[in-house]
Amino acid sequence: MKSFLLSLFFFIQFGIGYCQIELKINKVRLNNSIQKLSTYGKNEAGGSDRVAYSEYDREARKYIKDLMIKAGLEVSTDFAGNIIGKKAGLNPALKPIAFGSHIDEVPNGGDYDGPVGSLSAIEVVQTLSENNWPTRHPLEVIIFTNEEGGVIGSRALAGQLSNEALKIKSSSGLTQYEGIKAVGGNPDRISELKRNSGDIAAFLELHIEQGGNLDREGIDIGVVEGIVAIEWYEFTFKGLANHAGTTPMDMRKDPMLPASRLVLAVNEIVNSFDGAQVATVGKIEAFPGAGNVIPGEVKLNVEIRDLSSDKIHQVYQAIEKKAEILAQESGTTVSINHIEVASKPALANPEIQKVIESSAKELGLSSKYLPSGAGHDSQEIAKFAPIGMIFIPSKNGISHSPQEYSSPEDISNGANVLLHTILALDQKLSSNN
Ligand SMILES: [Zn+2]
Repeated sequence: MKSFLLSLFFFIQFGIGYCQIELKINKVRLNNSIQKLSTYGKNEAGGSDRVAYSEYDREARKYIKDLMIKAGLEVSTDFAGNIIGKKAGLNPALKPIAFGSHIDEVPNGGDYDGPVGSLSAIEVVQTLSENNWPTRHPLEVIIFTNEEGGVIGSRALAGQLSNEALKIKSSSGLTQYEGIKAVGGNPDRISELKRNSGDIAAFLELHIEQGGNLDREGIDIGVVEGIVAIEWYEFTFKGLANHAGTTPMDMRKDPMLPASRLVLAVNEIVNSFDGAQVATVGKIEAFPGAGNVIPGEVKLNVEIRDLSSDKIHQVYQAIEKKAEILAQESGTTVSINHIEVASKPALANPEIQKVIESSAKELGLSSKYLPSGAGHDSQEIAKFAPIGMIFIPSKNGISHSPQEYSSPEDISNGANVLLHTILALDQKLSSNN
C-alpha cells in the first residue's frame, strides 16, 4: 500500500512534465546573494581578493553556511574544510546526487568564477524546499575548499591530496595545512575523506565558461563534454654563443632562429587539425640572455590541451618533427623534455550531458556541446563519480579579472538548467536501480 501511494505521489508530482518545468529558481534572490557574496573581499580595483583561507574567505563561508541552513540543508565542514550541506531524499538507500562549486577567488579575481555555481546550488535546494518538492535521492551541496589554489577540497575527496601538497603555501600566506585548520577542517584526518566509486550517484557543477564561445555565438548554455588534458613540452635548441658584433652572419649557429620559427609553426600545426585543441608557446628564454650575445641556447615551453590524449600526441608529434627539421636547417640541435601536467582528460558522463541538453531545451534555452579548457573541481570528482558541467556565457570570455561578468539572466538560466537536470537525473537514476 505504501509503495502504491508513493508511486501515485510520484505520478502526480513528476509524471506531468509540464508541472515540473514550471518549477523555477528565484532569479532576484539568486542574483542578490551573488552580489552580497561579492562584498566579501572587494578591493579598490573592483576585483575580489577573497583568496582561500583569508579572513574574507572565512567571513564569506559563514554567510554561505547561513544560506545553506535557511535552504533546509544540514550543514557541516569536512576534514578538508569543504562545506557540506545534506538534504534527505525519499529513498535513503539511494546514493546522493551532489552539486556545488567554490567561493574562493584568485587574487584580484572576479565575482562569478565559483560563486555562480555555489549560490545556484544553494538556490536550487531553497527552491525545492519552499515548494515542498521532494527528491528520491538525497541531495548534497558541496562548496569546495581552495579551488583556485590547486583544487584542494575536491582532490581530498578523490583521495589525491598528499601530505606534501599540504605543505605548499597558498595565496593567503598560510600553508594548505594551516589554511584547512583555519576554516574548521582537520588536515591530519584528510585521508579518511576519500570517496569511492558508487558513493555519489552523480555530480553536477554550474560554472561560467571563462572562454568566449557562448558569448560570441549568443548561446545560453554550454553542455561540457569534459575537462581537457594538459601537456607541456620544453624544447631546447642549442647552438653556439658568440659575440653579436664580430661574428659574421654566415658563421652563426643561432638557436633563436629555429626557436622563433617553431613558435609560428606551433600555431600553424595546431590549426591544421580539425577540432577544438589548443597549443600555446607562453614562455621563451634565451641564454645567456644579453643584448650583445648570440644566444647559445633557447628554451621554449609548448603547452597543448585537448579532450583527447591521442589528439594531443598527434599534434605533439607534428611539432616535434618540425622542430627537428628547423634545428637541422639552422645547424643547431634540439632536445625535448616532456613535463606532465594533467595528462588525463576528465570526461563528462554522456548520459548526464544528454540530460543537461534536454533540460535546456525544455526551458526554451539554446545550447551547444563544448570542452572546458580550464580546470575545475569536477575533474577530481570525475575520478570516482559520473559528472556533468553546465556553462553559462562569460562576457567577452574574460575571467580571473575584475572585468569578469555574467548577466543575471544568464545566471538564472544556468541555475534553472541545474535544477531541472537534478530533477531529471533523480528520476532517471532511481528508475535504473
Ligand atoms: Zn572556478
